[in-house]
Amino acid sequence: MSKQSPKYIFVFGGVMSGIGKGISASSIAKIVQAHNYKVTSIKIDPYVNVDAGTMNPTEHGEVFVLADGLETDQDMGNYERFLNIKLPGSNYMTTGSVYWKVLNNERNLKYKGKCVQIIPHVTDEVIQTIQKSAVKNDADVVVIEVGGTTGDYENVLFTEAARQLKLRHPDDVLFVMITFVPYPVKIGEMKTKPTQQAARSLNEAGVQPDIIIARGEQEIDKKRKEKIALFCNIREEAVISAPDAESIYEIPLNFEKDGLSSTVLKKLGLKNGGECDLDDWRKMVKKIKNAKEEVRIGLVGKYFGTGDCVLSDSYISVIEALKHAAFDQGKKPVIDWINAEKFEVEETDLAELDKYDALIVPGGFGSRGIEGKINVIKYARENKIPYLGLCYGMQLMVIEYARNVVGLKDANTAEINPDAKYLVVDLMPEQKEKMKNSDYGATMRLGEYPCEIKAGTLASEAYKTENIMERHRHRYEVNPEYIKSLEDANLIFSGQSPDGKLMEIAELSKAEHPFMLGSQFHPEFTSSPMKPNPLFQALIRASIEKIKK
Ligand code: GLN
Repeated sequence: MSKQSPKYIFVFGGVMSGIGKGISASSIAKIVQAHNYKVTSIKIDPYVNVDAGTMNPTEHGEVFVLADGLETDQDMGNYERFLNIKLPGSNYMTTGSVYWKVLNNERNLKYKGKCVQIIPHVTDEVIQTIQKSAVKNDADVVVIEVGGTTGDYENVLFTEAARQLKLRHPDDVLFVMITFVPYPVKIGEMKTKPTQQAARSLNEAGVQPDIIIARGEQEIDKKRKEKIALFCNIREEAVISAPDAESIYEIPLNFEKDGLSSTVLKKLGLKNGGECDLDDWRKMVKKIKNAKEEVRIGLVGKYFGTGDCVLSDSYISVIEALKHAAFDQGKKPVIDWINAEKFEVEETDLAELDKYDALIVPGGFGSRGIEGKINVIKYARENKIPYLGLCYGMQLMVIEYARNVVGLKDANTAEINPDAKYLVVDLMPEQKEKMKNSDYGATMRLGEYPCEIKAGTLASEAYKTENIMERHRHRYEVNPEYIKSLEDANLIFSGQSPDGKLMEIAELSKAEHPFMLGSQFHPEFTSSPMKPNPLFQALIRASIEKIKK
């Protein structure tokens, strides 16, 4: 039997940003996947940046690295975590990447001398990218999240492409709009007007939403559903209530409660086998809700003056990976942000770190807060607090060891002081050329690389295998010149690139420390709630042991 033609679900955002469009898109994809359809997800970022690599994480949120090395938006991470799949870079698109292709085509005479126009050439490029993704991922259903808010000047191109795709394949395209229904306390009732206006703005662009997901602090009542249905020209069962949830992983279950998957399948003409198999997912959510005993984790980084929200977005994969591992072991993670700069001052008392069951130094760039981080790592080592260093956190762990155990007082990374006497962390040779030419976009060591693990180490106990693949995003590495002296002082390089040149994991033996490990890669990018990453699991196990003592 030949495969049905692929179906496309476009997810637009109305009213305002920050209402959880990415999570909603992930949840829609999840419930369709639970019906045994092969689903893939695309994110469209309307920015002119060609990828997310050069965007500041405090402004744009975390840069999520895909297996093939593309630096993308954090929502790609949500899709991978919800769907438990690996997405290719071709599933991420920006205004910049689309124009980049069109301009290259134009330079290569691909348009055969025609006048190149936004419609049809640029819109066609968008449509082709989406259709190719369906083929590449062998997908029955493609969920496409259009970033930004309806009516934004920036996403007109993508809304237009969506309209044209529907025109070409009327039975295969579904439009979902996620909106926000505010509940002004003084007025005392939920207001649907912003939603009506958002629907109208989509209508102006030739797009009629098929389904409206109404986000709000609480459940949308029947009266509000009727109103949205009437004014936005859809049926009442196509208005889905999406109140705030305790955990993001509950959202697919909430959508199902409102019958979303059967509405989606019906509208797309897909067979509804009746069963939406979310049993394992449900069990996982139950575990999250039942977890009562806390593990306290300190995340050590530089202070971002804009507050917690920005912060949790900048490290979303680390925070999620911690949650996956902790909930999996029945524990509730309490994650505190620790400002590293505070520990730069010599007489600062680090004893306040004793309250933590684990400490993490996540990835980072630049010199701010570095000495504070090194002091925290020293404290974790000397006081046997379980420690996980991610990328920069591993490099700094090696520097701390070189300074305070090996006795190389001035040890540093070339990123901070290229003139330091002992550059135990140095620029990778191929990076030197690129930096000279100010070639910064997508030029780091990026994406998935193999790593071989030494038997009998913490790493092998965690991964239970000798060969792993993890994702990278860095320019510097442990300098091969210092490996011998570090090893002689009992630092174990338990994970290495297959050619033995790059040090991927550094750790201390169990005899010296219950759990002190750093990885040059980012294990947080491959963690999902159904399959927590082994290093995070090992960290949480060590922190549970610490609590027991
Ligand atoms: N700044 C370091 C490097 O480029 C670490 C990068 C990171 O933590 N992602 O090597």
